Amino acid sequence: MALFRSKKYFKVGLDEKRREEDVLWLKCKACGQLVFKKRVEQNRNICPKCGEYFFLTARERIKLLVDAGSFEDISRPISAKDPLRFVGAKPYTQSLKEAQEETGLLNEIIVGSATIEDAPVILAVMDFRFIGGSMGSVMGEQICHGIRTAARLRRPFILVSATGGARMQEGILSLMQMAKTASARWLLEEARVPFLSVMTYPTTAGVEASIASLGDVAIAERGALIGFAGPRVIKETINQELPADFQTDRFALKHGIVDQVVRREGLREEIARILRFFVSSRNSGGRNGR
Ligand SMILES: [Zn+2]
Repeated sequence: MALFRSKKYFKVGLDEKRREEDVLWLKCKACGQLVFKKRVEQNRNICPKCGEYFFLTARERIKLLVDAGSFEDISRPISAKDPLRFVGAKPYTQSLKEAQEETGLLNEIIVGSATIEDAPVILAVMDFRFIGGSMGSVMGEQICHGIRTAARLRRPFILVSATGGARMQEGILSLMQMAKTASARWLLEEARVPFLSVMTYPTTAGVEASIASLGDVAIAERGALIGFAGPRVIKETINQELPADFQTDRFALKHGIVDQVVRREGLREEIARILRFFVSSRNSGGRNGR
């Protein structure tokens, strides 16, 4: 998938052999200017020269969204197995090991509890650096763990997606996570707990076609790519020209896939506003957070 080779939202200008912490300057892909890394980080990973969004890791995304010091990692201590002994361009076990070393993460998703402007939430955040943020058995289980915890504690559940879809290295087991997460979502319904789905660049394929599209409120971060198959495959299948804005945030909004498009600068405040709405409707005897 071309998406996996795209460097658009990665920190560019990195010599792969150098450690990321040693890099002081980043080159913006949009405006081509060199920008001081610290300044970019202080600016929510937005280019201070042109406003382009740099790619966010899961930890950076969490830091951006939650109240300082409130985050507690509650991810289950599990990691992917290789039941199919899959070998693609390289063995799956090797891809996993490299992804773990590169990201410092055990998995492609972090589940945690935190507060956002003092509202307690459970959130699950994907990391695209880890094998394209693809959903295998572990991500499916971590999302369900987050959902179960949110339902039990009656806290809103927030899913932040950055994913290329199902993890082909796990074959049918990865596709089964679509059904597993989609059915777990019902627990939130039963507990009358709101579910906010935040789609970032990119939210595609098996994740977009399951849990990411099942939020009570669906938000696209400005610049998000949202879709199922790639445009070339669709174009060849239906044999028609596609609109210029196909699979963009604006297209998703126009066609009702998301409820709103929010700039990264205002994302935390917008989520807090939505959370307050659910809390006040619950307190005023509304449909208990629905
Ligand atoms: Zn720029």
